[in-house]
Amino acid sequence: MLPKIKIPKQTVYLDHAATTPLDPAVAKAMRPYLAEKFGNPSSLYKAGVEAKTAISHAREKVAQILNCSPKEIIFTAGGTESTNLAIFGTAKKFKPGESHIVTSQIEHHAVVRPVEALGKEGYRTTFVKANGTGIIALNDIKKAIRPQTVLVSIMYANNEVGTIQPIREIGKWLRAENARRAKKSLPYIAFHVDACQAGTLNLDVQNLSVDLLTLNGSKNYGPKQTGVLFARISLPLKPLIYGGGQEAGLRSGTENVAGIVGFAKALTLIQTNRVKENKRLEILRDYFIKRVLKEIPKSVINGSMGKGERLPSNINVSFDGVDGEALLLYLDSYNIAVSTGSACSTVDNLPSHVLKAMGFNKERIAGAIRFTLGKSTTKKQLDFVINVLKPLIKELRKA
Ligand SMILES: *Cc1c(COP(=O)(O)O)cnc(C)c1O
Repeated sequence: MLPKIKIPKQTVYLDHAATTPLDPAVAKAMRPYLAEKFGNPSSLYKAGVEAKTAISHAREKVAQILNCSPKEIIFTAGGTESTNLAIFGTAKKFKPGESHIVTSQIEHHAVVRPVEALGKEGYRTTFVKANGTGIIALNDIKKAIRPQTVLVSIMYANNEVGTIQPIREIGKWLRAENARRAKKSLPYIAFHVDACQAGTLNLDVQNLSVDLLTLNGSKNYGPKQTGVLFARISLPLKPLIYGGGQEAGLRSGTENVAGIVGFAKALTLIQTNRVKENKRLEILRDYFIKRVLKEIPKSVINGSMGKGERLPSNINVSFDGVDGEALLLYLDSYNIAVSTGSACSTVDNLPSHVLKAMGFNKERIAGAIRFTLGKSTTKKQLDFVINVLKPLIKELRKA
């Protein structure tokens, strides 16, 4: 018997790590470029110039936020394209048998799969482990480096358990290591960071000492299929897509003008409000976690609770003896949208590789549910979710 609780008309959306709604201000900024301002940025007459100018402004805004040159911003069609361009674009400058790539076991498939594909082509690869709370240690990266290493790719924040990786620490060490390697004529190690989940964190690429940084629009209140790759001008990449030579030859094809304008607007908004909003979400997150652990027996948090080691928006809980997917579907019947371990699990139906890498048993992985908060999340919504969870989990454990 399902607990009888009044269901809200509006969905309680707690899956912001999968995707976010388009901010109305972003939609407004995009609208002219979907309608009357339709010119091709490569055209020389007024409509073309207008579109080209819009892209230039967007590029300058993004460059300002990342603290880099506008020339180092490549607009792409999303996070996956950016990670692929960073990884293949770097690796393909080197010969397979002689080059080595380091990444981690808890990366998004947008990084794991390209590195695996390079492995099949003969590139050497190392997947560094994470500890039980989902943090990658600088020391493990140091140990993985070989004379032939040309790329290190580590995510800024994990999409499943929300752990924030020590990117600045890794970047600083790699910078020093690269200086030592230069004296020995060893190849430069490019540092790529997948920051798709890190739109609310510090994105200053100089401060972080990164060479390549991936961002997307769809997780940051921007349009889907939009993204950026920051790529240092001093480290030219091999393009994935050849054609008309747009985006400095790195991403040919007529630009998605509305998407680019929307991406820049979304990133500006999220970065402007990030400190205040992070504080608000942190309070909500900790409130929810405290109540779950206290009021739902045999529940356990996945990921780190260390200071600064978890995204303010992420809650990942395993309920012992409960099937996460069943719970997700029951929650949906109460108009609550959440995710199991990984947002991509409906595609491959495999147990989360992230929770596996953290060393959890099958039960803990199967019982994992991810709640990710966002701009629209309120305390009232979270209270409602707890009110549903308590009796529901009791029922599911009886079954
Ligand atoms: C969503 C996501 C991606 C892929 O981004 P798309 O825009 O969906 O292609 C890559 N990495 C991480 C960490 C993500 O969360």
